[in-house]
Amino acid sequence: MTLTIHPVNNLPLIHAGDNLPALIADRVALEEGDIVSIASTVYSKSKNYTRKLTDITPTARAQRISKMTGEDPRFLQSILDVSKDVLIEFPFILSEVAGGHIGVRAGVDQSNIEDGHVILLPPDPMKAASEVRDALKKITGKEVGVIITDTCGRAFRRGQTGNAIGWSGIVAIRDFRGDKDLFGHVLKITEEAVVDEIAGIANFVMGESNNGVPAVVVRGCGRWTGHDNLYFSKKEDFIRRALSVRARPKKNE
Ligand code: GDP
Ligand code: MN
Ligand code: MN
Repeated sequence: MTLTIHPVNNLPLIHAGDNLPALIADRVALEEGDIVSIASTVYSKSKNYTRKLTDITPTARAQRISKMTGEDPRFLQSILDVSKDVLIEFPFILSEVAGGHIGVRAGVDQSNIEDGHVILLPPDPMKAASEVRDALKKITGKEVGVIITDTCGRAFRRGQTGNAIGWSGIVAIRDFRGDKDLFGHVLKITEEAVVDEIAGIANFVMGESNNGVPAVVVRGCGRWTGHDNLYFSKKEDFIRRALSVRARPKKNE
């Protein structure tokens, strides 16, 4: 498989009301089967999923967490407001947001927006991806895949990577279960989170901070089969359960 990766250069600063698919299609000649990754930051800015801190009144919970983390209680409130389930409050809020993604500070960003504002993740990221895909189809006539990405931290390892928050036109997971390895062993476990791998390389090309590249096209991925169950159910998610239940034996147990 040979991939080529094309940054979408020269996009302007994105504001509420901007037609992001049209701005992207103007700057890159899309081909059938391309996968267009878009930073959630710019999608949310274009749809006005942002808040002004001075409009936010923090609750007692936000004030209590603020005393532990030292963060602005209004910022913490903006995180709590989009959190469906708070897994931990300290040393940072880790919570589940709409769509099933679990993220540090619910993926709420204070960067790449004016002072005193925050950017929220799209409230329905799957719909966001499918809207962009439909719009790109209308403008260019090409069937492409779309991934809405965010830069996320992860458990156990330092360093952030790109994650897929929403996707359309592709399946999230390439399922290898039932395939045979080089020695004829049947694979029982391997499901590859392809959308996160593509989000990862797109995020690398986007850069963080001031690079100004919020969209990246990956060409040559071909097709894969699998499913869209990217998120564990609560029951399956042992690590999530372990955050609330003491799972480690005592020293002399
Ligand atoms: P996130 O990963 O979705 O949280 O987004 P980031 O804040 O890391 O931004 C990803 C990339 O998009 C970086 O290269 C930013 O410089 C760029 N970026 C963010 N906002 C804008 C914008 O309004 N216009 C342009 N052209 N680039 C932006
Ligand atoms: Mn972000
Ligand atoms: Mn980023």
